[in-house]
Amino acid sequence: MPDCVFCKIRDGEVPAKFEYRDEHTMVFHDLNPVAPHHLLVVPNKCIRSVNEVDDEAAQELGYMFAAAARVARQLGFEQEGYRCVVNTGRGAGQIVMHLHMHLLAGRLLEWPPG
Ligand code: 5GP
Repeated sequence: MPDCVFCKIRDGEVPAKFEYRDEHTMVFHDLNPVAPHHLLVVPNKCIRSVNEVDDEAAQELGYMFAAAARVARQLGFEQEGYRCVVNTGRGAGQIVMHLHMHLLAGRLLEWPPG
């Protein structure tokens, strides 16, 4: 997608602070963190949202969770707890139309979320 900021990060056209990346997934710090740890877990493939996850794209979700678990261990918050959030659609707050999972940790995460 030509105007997709996460595609630009993937392609090195926009800088980001990476914690992990491989052939399927990248994990980098959110530009505007809302928690002491706030990372974005993003498939390299530009799937717009959960609405576009079909059987083929479903594999990417597994890789995303594996990358999230890896980074939670790497940054040392896997025991204290963390939240994985996927906003889907404008009504849920999705701004960047390239599927991504927010990985939030380092403060009390209340339920229900706002
Ligand atoms: P959404 O609201 O779509 O679920 O989340 C998009 C997230 O991407 C937001 O938390 C926003 O701060 C983050 N974001 C937007 N542009 C950039 C960018 O250029 N770099 C990084 N690292 N994060 C970004």
